[in-house]
Amino acid sequence: MTTYGIDLGTTYSCIAYVDETGRAVVAKNAVGEETTPSVVYFESGQSVVVGRAAKNSAMLNPDLVVELIKRQIGQGDARREFHGESHAPESISALILRELARNAEEDTGEPVKDVVITVPAYFGVLERDATRKAGQIAGLNVLDVLAEPVAAALHYEALTEDAGVRHLLVYDLGGGTFDTTVIRLDGGDVQVVCTDGDHHLGGADWDSKIIDYLLNGFTDQHSDLDPGGDEQFVQDLAISAEQLKKELSSTQSRRHNMRFDGSVVQLELTRDGLEELTSELLERTMEITERTIATARDKGVTRFDDVLLVGGMTRTPAVARTLKERFGLDARLHDPDLAVAKGAALFALVQRVKIGMDGEDGPGSGETAQDVADQLGISVEQVETMAAKRVATVVPRAFGLKVVDSKDPVFTTDPDRARELVAHLLTANTELPADTGPQTFYTVTDNQNSVRLEVWEQAGSVASDELAHNTHIGDGMLTDLPLRPAGAPFEVTFFMNPTGLLKVHGREAGSGREVRFEIQIGGLEEAEVREATSAVARYEVSG
Ligand code: ADP
Ligand code: MG
Repeated sequence: MTTYGIDLGTTYSCIAYVDETGRAVVAKNAVGEETTPSVVYFESGQSVVVGRAAKNSAMLNPDLVVELIKRQIGQGDARREFHGESHAPESISALILRELARNAEEDTGEPVKDVVITVPAYFGVLERDATRKAGQIAGLNVLDVLAEPVAAALHYEALTEDAGVRHLLVYDLGGGTFDTTVIRLDGGDVQVVCTDGDHHLGGADWDSKIIDYLLNGFTDQHSDLDPGGDEQFVQDLAISAEQLKKELSSTQSRRHNMRFDGSVVQLELTRDGLEELTSELLERTMEITERTIATARDKGVTRFDDVLLVGGMTRTPAVARTLKERFGLDARLHDPDLAVAKGAALFALVQRVKIGMDGEDGPGSGETAQDVADQLGISVEQVETMAAKRVATVVPRAFGLKVVDSKDPVFTTDPDRARELVAHLLTANTELPADTGPQTFYTVTDNQNSVRLEVWEQAGSVASDELAHNTHIGDGMLTDLPLRPAGAPFEVTFFMNPTGLLKVHGREAGSGREVRFEIQIGGLEEAEVREATSAVARYEVSG
């Protein structure tokens, strides 16, 4: 059975598989395109449309069309209601996945079951888990979620000669998110050195700047009219703005005509003008790139063998030019729209081979390389190379415990009123699997017989101990502690496995009391996932 890689993008998605010759190929969608807009149109209570047709429907039915849902994945308060039914972002993403799977089934003639779905490297545990659940709701078996830059690097690696140790810088500017990641390739191994990014920065922000420019240009000439208040006009303008932006990647200047309430305005936008309008956005990506280069330097990586540009927005010439001017980097486009899905397809096959050969009881207990090769329709040699492949990632963000600040002057008199902060145990960019070893913390009050272990994850791009800059992701309790004066020690260990699952272990040495828990990641509960699965299965999905 074939395995598939899915790039579930903020603005465009793509599905790929590995053919008999071992090459990753993209499955085309219903209208013959390789990428499908990540747009869902709730046509009725029974049927949804996904892709180009849905995007075009946004003009006529803005209230029934959902775009950029990836920006809300994992946010419990982002449900949307259509035709009397409420949908979490996971369900809406699942509808996109169903359409992609349907396209691949039509293309290959085989059912789509086992998949790897990619996520921005910078996604936290909540968003990763929500993406996995979206796959489940779509009726798919999610072998793993994989960081997009790692997928791009796997695809790059498959296309280049093995040349010993190499370091890559991946600059990925998509429709809604931005990531920079440094990756080390060594033989068949792929290892993330460090990663950084901003998941609210992408092509859609460039589009917004163009929309504002066009609207202002219109009202400059007709101050009595308010086209910005007309939803349909703005939707129309959004499509034109994206089109203008794309055209200005290959031409120097474009004219655009707008008609509203009988008045017509023609505006010109040049490539230089666009660069000026959006310079602050590009600058933000350069600051993050600078930070990534500095982190890599601290880890001993001082030069890059290749700089890969991934994501549709990297087609704007300003990206490569600025990377050259600012950092002397020679960047090149690397199959920017398809590399992630293709790399995910290669990884899905690797995972499937490993699952087959590992069996229930660990490596060696499963099927033989020959069996796996027969099942997957690839050679024994390919199976062996894949089984030996190691893909190592890093902790995407810092994780810690909520503690009371003992340095706060109030602490000595009234510890309950002292400042609360997050003490990070695991820092971003630690290689996975990661183990902090036992870290010592202290009780706050006399005779405190229990401790709540509140686990928080860094929320912004830079680690900070302020509660407001972190997200609460789970809890555990250390109970029945012996009665002792305040300041009694206990130990906490964080362990994160290679797929990003966090395990926490608390222990009080004197009494031997222990608590172990896996972080129960927030988001949809299992019953809600089951309910959403049947709700999504009831829809007829088309492109
Ligand atoms: P995502 O994975 O976030 O959905 P993609 O990598 O598919 O994003 O990139 C989509 C973004 O790239 C969109 O904002 C789109 O307008 C932009 N884009 C695509 N082609 C071009 C181009 N030729 N010039 C500039 N921007 C482009
Ligand atoms: Mg992308």
